[in-house]
Formats: sequence, C-alpha cells, structure tokens
Amino acid sequence: MSNLHSYYLLLLFFFSTNIEASQQEPSESKLLTQQQTLPVDDRIIDLVEKVRKKEGDITTIFQRLQSQESTFNIAEKYLMLMISAYIHKQEGALALSVTELTQALSFEERMDTAQLNTENFSHIHLLLAEIYQIQGQYKLAYDEKKHYLEKRKKNRSVLQKIRLASLNEKYATDLKIKENELLENEQKLKSLQLAEATKRRESQQRNLAILMVTALIILVLLIRQLKIRATLKYLAKTDSLTGLYNRRVLFTQGVLLLQEHQQRQIPLSVMMLDIDHFKYINDTYGHDVGDKVIIAVANLGKETLRAKDIFSRIGGEEYAIILPHTELKEAKAIAERLREKVQQHVFELEDKTTENFNVTISIGVATLSSENTDFDQLLHAADEAMYRAKTSGRNQVCQ
Ligand code: GH3
Ligand code: MG
Ligand code: MG
Repeated sequence: MSNLHSYYLLLLFFFSTNIEASQQEPSESKLLTQQQTLPVDDRIIDLVEKVRKKEGDITTIFQRLQSQESTFNIAEKYLMLMISAYIHKQEGALALSVTELTQALSFEERMDTAQLNTENFSHIHLLLAEIYQIQGQYKLAYDEKKHYLEKRKKNRSVLQKIRLASLNEKYATDLKIKENELLENEQKLKSLQLAEATKRRESQQRNLAILMVTALIILVLLIRQLKIRATLKYLAKTDSLTGLYNRRVLFTQGVLLLQEHQQRQIPLSVMMLDIDHFKYINDTYGHDVGDKVIIAVANLGKETLRAKDIFSRIGGEEYAIILPHTELKEAKAIAERLREKVQQHVFELEDKTTENFNVTISIGVATLSSENTDFDQLLHAADEAMYRAKTSGRNQVCQ
C-alpha cells in the first residue's frame, strides 16, 4: 500500500469517528418543516432511516414502494435511488450501487440545497464513500466523506438559525406573556389602590358625621343643662305660686341693700303686707279661690311697685317689699296706692251664682333710721306697724 493510500485511510478513520457522533444529532426533520423543501413520503423516510442505521431486510418494503415510483417527486426519486444502491451494495453489486448513487447526485442541481444538506439526503456521500473504500479507492472515499461533512456543516448552521429563530420567537412570546401579566398586576394594584382610597374617604366621612352628631348631642345636653341650672336658680329664688321673690332672696338682698344704703346714707324703706280676713275667703270660696286672691294681690303689687323694688311673698298671704332709695313719706304713698288698688279690685267668680267680692290689705311701713340698724329690726318694725293697721280696723297703712 502506497503512502498516499495510508494517508487517506487515516483521514477516513478520523472522519468515521466524527460521523458516528453526527448520527446522534437531534431530529432535524421537525425543524426543517418550515423550509421550502419537497415533501417526502413517510415510508421512504422510514426506509432511509433504516439505511442510515445499516439495518437489513428492507427489500420487500422497497419493492412495494418501487411500484409507485411514477408518482414520486424528484426528492423522493433521489432517496429511492439511494435505498436501491444500499440494497445492491449489501448484495455486493457495488458497480450498480455506484451508478445509482451517481444518477441520484445528478438530480441535485434541480433540488433545494437546504434539503440536500439534511442528514437523510447527505447520507448518499457516506454510502458512496463506503463503496469506494471497499473498492480501495480511498481518495474518492475521502472526497465523498468531505462532501458529506461540508453538507453537514451547512445543515447545522441552518438548523442553528432555525433553532435560534424558534427560541427568539418563544422568548418574544414569553416576554409578551410576562408583559401582559405585569400589566394585569398593575391594573389590579390600581383598582386596589382606588378601593383603598374610596374606603379611606368613606371612613373619613363617617368619622366626621359621628363627630358632628356627637358635638350636636353635647351641645343639646349643654343647652339643656344650662336651662335646668337657670330653672333651678329661678326656682331657688322664686315663690312658685306668684312668681315673686321668696323669703331667702328677701333676706339676702335686704342685708346687702341695707348695708349699701347705710354707707351712702340713702333712705331705704320696707313694707309688710297682709291680706285681711283671708281665712274667711278660704272658708267661703275655697282654697283655690284663696290662691287666686294671693296671685291677684301679687300682680296688683307688681303693677304698682317699681322695677328696683324687691317684692317677695314670705308666707301664706303675707308679703314683704324692700323699697330702695325711698323715704318714709314716699313709701307710705306707694303703700296707699297699692291698698286702694287692691280694695278697688273686683274678684269675679266662675260660679256665677255667687256674688263677686272685694278684698282689702293692711300695710305696715318702716324706714332705715338710727333705731333700725339691721334688716331684721327694720322688718320687725314694719311688721309691728302692720299689726297696728290690723288692730286699727284693717284696710289701712301704718308706719
Ligand atoms: P287677718 O285679717 O288677721 O290677717 O286674718 P286672717 O284670716 O288673714 O288671719 P290668718 O293669718 O290667721 O289666716 C291666714 C290663713 O291663710 C290661714 C291659712 O289657712 C291660709 N293660708 C296660708 N297659706 C295659704 C295658701 O298658700 N293658700 C291659701 N288659699 N291659703 C293659705
Ligand atoms: Mg296672715
Ligand atoms: Mg291675713
């Protein structure tokens, strides 16, 4: 064996190990479906794969397919020639194999390069290389294997591009999905924020309403409290039947006024007033009429007296009056006016069968002097004067 032969044999060995590895490449048919290639009958594909795996016993299926040869396209015819060449090679008809393979190769210029570069088609060069190797034509075998590797390289780069494209497409789809998810989440977030804001606003409004209602209730309670206090104050100072001052006010005011008038040396007088024969009125017309008489005398007093005078009811039908800035003479005149007014007042009864009647009053007047230095003494003096009026025949003013 020449040196050249040894060289090619070595190269062939090197290629064979590489080619073994390439047989395990992932299926390309799936990826290549997107390419502009001629369709190939599945049964032919099956047979080619068997050829590539160097399986035997394919003759029967091949012969059945051969009967339909006229319907095959050029790619299918190409592969059919390759299968036939494989069978002939197995049978030892090497020359016939080479002829068939060469004929198949002559179709290549009319076929799609990408399709020819796929494993099923480029296998033709491996078949040829094997035959040449058996025939000892190592240079030719080497060239075929080289062809095969070149086609495989091109096919791989095409496959890579397709894979890359499909990966890119998947990536773009994934990206789109993620973007959509993001958008959806943003939307959800926005609606949650909106709901939160609405809730906050509603709660604020509710709190405000509660606050306002509470303030209103407090205000109402406060007003009521003030009214009650004013009423209590009024009741504490007032005689409930007549609305005049009561005994307590008379004494507190009396003491204060007396002090003030003494200090400033201003005249001050007091009156004691008692309804005459009141027991008789009660007994004759009833207690209710008696009350009305007490009220009527109080009203007549209010009309006659001045705003500055302290008019009070101190007992059943007894009244006491403080007259500030008033001398005895003036006090007597006022008392006289009041006495006349009461005397002239006609009491009409609801029961018309009974005659109308008049009442009279007795008044005692006293004024601030060196003898009457405190309020009790002054009042006592007026009371004594009234007693004198009673004993002197009633319906009169005494001093
Ligand atoms: P005098 O002329 O001496 O004053 O005779 P009088 O009948 O007025 O004398 P007295 O003071 O004894 O009578 C007062 C009566 O007034 C006795 C009591 O039953 C009655 N009285 C006391 N308070 C009230 C009251 O609020 N309403 C009525 N209707 N009667 C009262
Ligand atoms: Mg009396
Ligand atoms: Mg009386």
